[in-house]
Amino acid sequence: MRSIALAAAFTCGLVGPAAAWGPEGHSIVAEVAQPRLSAPATQLVRKLLKGRSLASIASWADDYRATHPETEQWHFVDIPLNVTTYDAARDCRPNKQSGDCIIAALDRVQKDLRCATGEAQVQALKFAVHLVGDIHQPLHTVKEKKGGNEIAVDVFMRGLLDCPTCAVAHTPVNFHMAWDETLIQRTVWDWGAYVDRLENGWLKTAEAKAEDPAANHAPIDEKTFIAWAEDTHKAAQTVWYLRPADDVLDDRYLRDVLPIMDRQLGIAGLRLARFLNDAASQACPAR
Ligand SMILES: [Zn+2]
Repeated sequence: MRSIALAAAFTCGLVGPAAAWGPEGHSIVAEVAQPRLSAPATQLVRKLLKGRSLASIASWADDYRATHPETEQWHFVDIPLNVTTYDAARDCRPNKQSGDCIIAALDRVQKDLRCATGEAQVQALKFAVHLVGDIHQPLHTVKEKKGGNEIAVDVFMRGLLDCPTCAVAHTPVNFHMAWDETLIQRTVWDWGAYVDRLENGWLKTAEAKAEDPAANHAPIDEKTFIAWAEDTHKAAQTVWYLRPADDVLDDRYLRDVLPIMDRQLGIAGLRLARFLNDAASQACPAR
């Protein structure tokens, strides 16, 4: 069984367009959030998802995009690499065919989660779980090279998978995809193990404690989404410039960026819980 699992771990995830944290990343974010929901948010999620977990619907928005191209741009924001602040006119241009950007989308989703009913409210929850994840994937906030989709890299690392006898395979992907999926897959055997890694690691840090929804009661508005995007963009600058000149992502690269990947996945989970707790405790604003 172990050799089958190994083969899968070292060969899967090589094809297909990169679009977001892969299913593992989104499940990790959702699973960090789930136990941190307030009683009203737990109730709201139970009602809308009919008892299913947040993780089970966390990648729905990527499937939905395949048939609804007008939601394409809702998953990212194109901030130029060399700036530090978001500019709506520059970075979030509406496009009839492909939507606007993740910051505008989160603003709508937040309102719909509070104000919509029926299927529209269910969809708002599914988008919320997914997009709060995406806005924390560093390359989802970078304009250059389509967020790294146009940079070919070779993931050639042993990673943290405990298998000294395994052969290390060359894995040709693009830089964006490496961040969506491959680096996570080289760190743990399955996404549940990544949640454990965070609960025993980054989620115990002082920064995590301060971001915990139990401690952070600042109301979430459109400015919050801008702050999240700018914060993620800072991480993006670091992981972009740490990329080796030969575009081989090796064990040294993983070691250098792993604290950032842990922090981005962990903080996304905490902020998702805060987003949902906030939505469940506030009435629909008067229009
Ligand atoms: Zn996405």
